[in-house]
Amino acid sequence: MSETPVSVVRLAAVERQSGRTFRFREYTIVPDTEPDAEPWIFSFECVVCEEEGPENASQEEALSWTLVHLKAYPEHLSFRERITRPYRAVPGRWQ
Ligand SMILES: [Zn+2]
Repeated sequence: MSETPVSVVRLAAVERQSGRTFRFREYTIVPDTEPDAEPWIFSFECVVCEEEGPENASQEEALSWTLVHLKAYPEHLSFRERITRPYRAVPGRWQ
C-alpha cells in the first residue's frame, strides 16, 4: 500500500505552544497504513438485483459470494465491488 496523498487541506487551527494564536496548518490525507488502522473491507453486489454479499476482510472470500449468486441466478452476470479503506490526516507544518 502506498502513502500517496490523495488530498491536501489547509485548516485554521490553534497553535497551543503560543497561546490562542490562530494559524494555518496543512494536513495531508493518506491511506492509513499504521498497525492500528482499521482493516480493508471488501464486498460484492449484484448489479442486476442489487443483492449484496457479506463484508469480508479478504477480497477472495468476498468474491466467492459472486459464484454462489451466479449459481442461483445464472442470468445475473454483472457485479459491483465495494472496498472500504481507512485513511488518516497527517498534520504538516504550521504556516
Ligand atoms: Zn442478482
